[in-house]
Amino acid sequence: MASGSGSGSLMWFRKGLRIHDNPALERAAQSTKFLYPVFIIDPHYMEPDPNAFSPGSTRAGLNRIRFLLQSLADLDLNLRKLGSRLLVLKGEPSQVLFRCLKEWDVKKLCFEYDTEPYYQALDIKVKDHASIAGIEVFSPVSHTLFNPADIIQKNGGRPPLSYQSFVKLAGQPSWASSPLSVTISSLPPVGDVGGCEISEVPTIKELGYGDIEQDEFSPFRGGESEALKRLKESIDNKEWVAAFEKPKGDPSAFLKPATTTLSPYLKFGCLSSRYFYQCLQDVYRNVKRHTSPPVSLVGQLLWRDFFYTVAFGTPNFDQMTGNRICKQIPWNDNNELLVAWRDAKTGYPWIDAVMTQLHKWGWMHHLARHSVACFLTRGDLFVHWEKGRDVFERLLIDSDWAINNGNWLWLSCSSFFYQYNRIYSPISFGKKYDPNGDYIKHFLPILKDMPKEYIYEPWTAPLSVQTKAKCIIGKDYPKPGQFCYCDCFSWFLLLVPHDSASKECRRKMAEAYSLNQKLNGKVSEEDLKKLRRKLEEDSEDTKQEVKTKRMRQKLIC
Ligand code: FAD
Repeated sequence: MASGSGSGSLMWFRKGLRIHDNPALERAAQSTKFLYPVFIIDPHYMEPDPNAFSPGSTRAGLNRIRFLLQSLADLDLNLRKLGSRLLVLKGEPSQVLFRCLKEWDVKKLCFEYDTEPYYQALDIKVKDHASIAGIEVFSPVSHTLFNPADIIQKNGGRPPLSYQSFVKLAGQPSWASSPLSVTISSLPPVGDVGGCEISEVPTIKELGYGDIEQDEFSPFRGGESEALKRLKESIDNKEWVAAFEKPKGDPSAFLKPATTTLSPYLKFGCLSSRYFYQCLQDVYRNVKRHTSPPVSLVGQLLWRDFFYTVAFGTPNFDQMTGNRICKQIPWNDNNELLVAWRDAKTGYPWIDAVMTQLHKWGWMHHLARHSVACFLTRGDLFVHWEKGRDVFERLLIDSDWAINNGNWLWLSCSSFFYQYNRIYSPISFGKKYDPNGDYIKHFLPILKDMPKEYIYEPWTAPLSVQTKAKCIIGKDYPKPGQFCYCDCFSWFLLLVPHDSASKECRRKMAEAYSLNQKLNGKVSEEDLKKLRRKLEEDSEDTKQEVKTKRMRQKLIC
């Protein structure tokens, strides 16, 4: 056992990688001789997986892992300024934690409350262990504006399913009018760490990633310091904050994005959403007029809390089966279509550019996310939303369990939003914002010399234009409606042109909605199978009809 122990407390960082507005850290620092600030690297999350479709671990793309390491390094630096440091350990989190609690004779364990199923299960184990060992546990809600459990209780035990009802129930946060604790002047020293294997924050290389070649790195640098800097830049522009109105804003703006770009910092808790909220309220108090929820910036934070609340109160929120708020739809699981979308090879430059930004940056504008999510699911390809969710979950730096699943449910018209006839065009939607195609040219340099008349539909460019632009469609860049790039040598028929694909999707959605209505949402696997078969037959019938019509026309001619 470590010497001088017996009066130690342990601050377990998971998200909440910050000093400001961190009630768990504050409590951990109170009345204790020693404070052990700990982060546990879970190999499953961090170790390289050579079989994954993109560089990274089994669960996370490299951009997010790099962002996390940068955030930890910044946290360590900030802790050192306060007389402490970050203790980095490796292994299965509960096992490592239990060992530290024993070795350091910890009397108080503090960590931020987390609503994700992974942490819910882990935290039960940890709390049970602490209770048996007589360790005090403090686990406050500080990742969101509200405690999701309170809202659900106010609503009679079920989460509100519309934003409006959520906002009404939530009201003003209890802490809104009193200042949050944003600074700490010093922290108790770290005690003797005994036999526990402590390391510095590892680098990407030390984790085994080697030198990854990348032509463009994500512009997001992790950490609380960067988060507060970016927050200040946004907040200082009072007029911009006051006039912020989403969904207005240009999804193709990449030199200066149209929104705050704070989501990666909120995801890891480098930035407190409550502090962000208070800063916004300060701006509102000092301007004559400002926008309001749902379109304002405060409105965006409320969207975040809305999805957290529904996700927390809905069993199986992250899947279609067994999810009571999710329409049962006979999605396909066509892997070739999924891969074409995932690898930015659909032949629609707008879609492929957005997916490339996802790979390179790990972040895209909200409406860009809308267009690619709609395209994959109910708009064109009719691929299961869970497959798209998985790709986002891996590649987004801001990848957030509640928000990502919530938005995929929304975009696929599986929940929250049901107007499946409203489909984003993969051609005209982007063109509206960026007629020159600068965004496409940046993220898809193969199209950089394509004249703007053809940039959204390069397959319509005459061969002479394609030759001049050094981009032959169907060879250097895929052609939608005909080919999809599969491997180095083969191209094959895969995607259907947008007009017919979206028409077919609408038909399938109409049938699925009508089945859900008829069975009052109680659609079984068998019912879905039957519907899938019927839809396939009908579509065969349509193809046959078209063929017969064409034959007749030929005969008449
Ligand atoms: P701003 O417009 O500046 O908003 C400020 C903050 O409000 C954001 O950082 C975010 O925390 C919150 N916010 C904004 N829009 C939403 C929204 N629609 N739902 C919930 N919270 C919101 N956001 C994530 O943080 N993580 C995800 O994994 C994620 N997955 C998404 C998947 C799909 C299919 C779609 C359509 C959207 C997804 N979003 C996700 C929501 C949204 O696109 C991002 O939060 C936003 O684009 C981040 O940019 P920003 O920080 O500049 O946002």
